[in-house]
Amino acid sequence: MSNQAAFHNLGLNAHLQRAVYEAGYVNPTPIQSQTIPPILEGKDLVGCAQTGTGKTAAFALPILQLLSTNPKGKYHPKSKLNSRPKKNIRVLVLSPTRELAIQIGDFFSKYSQFNTKVTNTVIFGGVTQKKQVTTLKSGVDILVATPGRLLDLIGQGFISLRHIEILVFDEADRMLDMGFIHDVRRIMRNISSLHQTMLFSATMPKEIVKLAKDFLKNPVNVSVTPNQPTVEKIAQTVYFVPKNEKQSLLLSIVRNPKVSRALVFSRTKHGANKIVKKLMQAGVEAEPIHGNKSQNARQKALKNFRDGKTRILVATDVAARGIDVMNISHVIQFDLPNVSETYVHRIGRTGRAGAGGIAIAFCDFEELPLLRDIEKLIQMKIPDARNSMPRINRSKPAKSEKMMNQSSRKNQSSQKNQSSQKNQLKKVNPSLKCRHCSRLFGSQMAMLQHIKAKHNS
Ligand code: AMP
Repeated sequence: MSNQAAFHNLGLNAHLQRAVYEAGYVNPTPIQSQTIPPILEGKDLVGCAQTGTGKTAAFALPILQLLSTNPKGKYHPKSKLNSRPKKNIRVLVLSPTRELAIQIGDFFSKYSQFNTKVTNTVIFGGVTQKKQVTTLKSGVDILVATPGRLLDLIGQGFISLRHIEILVFDEADRMLDMGFIHDVRRIMRNISSLHQTMLFSATMPKEIVKLAKDFLKNPVNVSVTPNQPTVEKIAQTVYFVPKNEKQSLLLSIVRNPKVSRALVFSRTKHGANKIVKKLMQAGVEAEPIHGNKSQNARQKALKNFRDGKTRILVATDVAARGIDVMNISHVIQFDLPNVSETYVHRIGRTGRAGAGGIAIAFCDFEELPLLRDIEKLIQMKIPDARNSMPRINRSKPAKSEKMMNQSSRKNQSSQKNQSSQKNQLKKVNPSLKCRHCSRLFGSQMAMLQHIKAKHNS
């Protein structure tokens, strides 16, 4: 089936078919096939879709069609309005981060390029509001916004949501993680004329189900990967590495030319800066992206990364949320996230829209419980990188790897001498005791390897 036919069969008009053709989409992704028809019928929808599945187009394309079907009046299937004052905002898309908001706005512009009557704009904090207010005053159909700036501009009287007909919560789980739930409820109190609501989330924790219950009417539920939220095409591995060896391990990985474009995750802003500094000192070009950087610096770092000027981008979760850069060859988690779902979001940065990718996680001793939670969530064991190395062909073993081997040897000898050392170890550090079988160890790494090998956890 040609792409024109595939998208036509979903009910999309010729303008939008042309736009997806220009975007290079051959076939609708599963989330698009399942969401576009019900959205066009005006139904509420809950979409459980992991990142990179094409979910922005899944809501943006039918929304554009609904708006253009009747630009002057009953443009929405459920609308009772006969006319619409020109400057009212008709669609609101809520995004947890600025980067994601910008990206959604870009997609709306791209998909509406052959139907110039539908306009959109994006508002977010961290920049002056002047330009945003000027655009809003000229009137837009679609507003993509982060909650904080939206409430701010509502408070100042620059935005009215009274005529919103379609509302989209994008990446709702992230909205929750970032503490926006109260803002979201406040925003909802400003919306009275709503006809259609959509909620998209990579994961469906209890709070999101409740949010959907509170704000959606008989929604169609669409889930593209109900039981396995990780993207299957991503090759995942984990390195068990002491904390103080992570930097040298990272360096040895990114020095491999096969790492053509890598996104490195750090838990903290300070950590991201430190990683970049050390990479630069070692002669590897890298840039950080996080909330302490100005919006312009963030956009610049992103652009350099997208254009291939910077090969390594080191990000915190908040900043990375909206990064849609194609061909990220590697996602490297320098620190494991405290919230398991974040692991899924992170690895989704590689392997966008069906492409393959490599996700590497670093796990130190203290992060073992986090790894266990992640594996529980994704319902699979992440292979140990040292047993599945072909994708990172390092010519020389990294220092950390040598250390692993040394500690492995130490482990073996410590097993032999275990009983004679027992009492002594108890005195040295009573916490180096395997929690499964109470065996005692002389080093964290030895214990770590023992737990992985003997208890498979
Ligand atoms: P999203 O999940 O919305 O962040 O989209 C991830 C990426 O998939 C974006 O780069 C889109 O341009 C791309 N994409 C969306 N729909 C399709 C499609 N039908 N075929 C190929 N790529 C797509």
